[in-house]
Amino acid sequence: MKANIVLLPGDGIGPEVMKSAVAVLDAIAAKFGHNFDYDEQLIGAIAIETTGSPLPDATLRAGEQADAILLAAVGLPKYADPTAPVRPEQGLLKIRAHFGLFANLRPVKTYPALYGYAPLRAELLEGVDMLIVRELTGGLYFGARKEQDGDDNSFDTMNYTVGEVERVAHVAFRAAQQRRGKLTSIDKANVLASMRLWRRTVMKVAEDYGDIALNHEYVDAAAMYLMTRPASYDVILAENMFGDILSDEASVLAGSLGMLPSASLGTGTFGLYEPVHGSAPDIAGQGKANPIGQLLSAAMLLRYSLGLETEAAAIEAAVEDALADGARTADIAPKGSAFVSTDEFTQTVVGALKE
Ligand code: NAD
Repeated sequence: MKANIVLLPGDGIGPEVMKSAVAVLDAIAAKFGHNFDYDEQLIGAIAIETTGSPLPDATLRAGEQADAILLAAVGLPKYADPTAPVRPEQGLLKIRAHFGLFANLRPVKTYPALYGYAPLRAELLEGVDMLIVRELTGGLYFGARKEQDGDDNSFDTMNYTVGEVERVAHVAFRAAQQRRGKLTSIDKANVLASMRLWRRTVMKVAEDYGDIALNHEYVDAAAMYLMTRPASYDVILAENMFGDILSDEASVLAGSLGMLPSASLGTGTFGLYEPVHGSAPDIAGQGKANPIGQLLSAAMLLRYSLGLETEAAAIEAAVEDALADGARTADIAPKGSAFVSTDEFTQTVVGALKE
């Protein structure tokens, strides 16, 4: 297969973990006979410093020509002021909006080798392998709001249309079909009218997916079950704010922020793939970055944008093999013990892929 992938390394450890992803994608291309064309473009602080904009037009135009975008991370401490007129993170919001990416997918998986790094007991972490599908462009974060200095009343509204729920529900059901066939829809239908529409709509969409076992949980109960029986979940579908909160809660199960990938999808197969972590300026340039979140994001790109399931699974298995062989970047190495650099970890993964 021939595919055109836009690379956005961004700032901080971004270029380091992107280099790792390209090495692994090259190994996949060689092993399976694919041809990946990379088009490297600017986003974030480096884009501001080069062009004045955190998301230059050239980056958008390149994305429009591509099958998918692989992003690393943006942000530098010198742009930390949230009220500054131009900030690297504006590039992220703008690129998601430009491509109409309404579904955010965050898988969370635990590895036996890393059980000691999560705050839960090992017996609860065993077998955790879930995918959270968060609605990204509607709901409480986008509904009408009133806020003015001096007012003694403000409000935000949770507003969904049937169409908005349907399209993200289809993404979640299709993902469940590629996984273990189970979908948990999160709502607060006992209290909120918008969440009753959510539940009704998800139940209607379910009629197209007779092979999927659907259940519903209230968000407050789900927050508890994520800690008491995390291994029971396969795909979780949630409203924008509920999904935001639950995916951060679930991320602690993995043991390090550096482990977690994500995908943002719209209609069609185009998608934007990025690790969950930021640009980690505290460790940038030291070879200490854990590339796993970036590598698993590249695997998601192969799965969801290019339909290359075997190749995606090969990256995931190679990462697991590298961990099982004892390769550890600094963030997941026991205190005081030796760890490998980003490049060394990458070479272990590439080696596992060649086996
Ligand atoms: P961060 O995720 O960059 O770092 C938090 C902590 O986790 C740091 O101690 C860092 O060293 C560690 N860490 C993160 N990724 C790691 C990896 N791959 N390997 C090893 N350790 C890792 O979050 P922050 O410190 O709050 O933010 C730093 C900058 O990143 C800020 O400018 C922020 O705005 C930006 N940011 C960007 C994104 C994004 O690009 N999607 C997301 C979050 C934060």
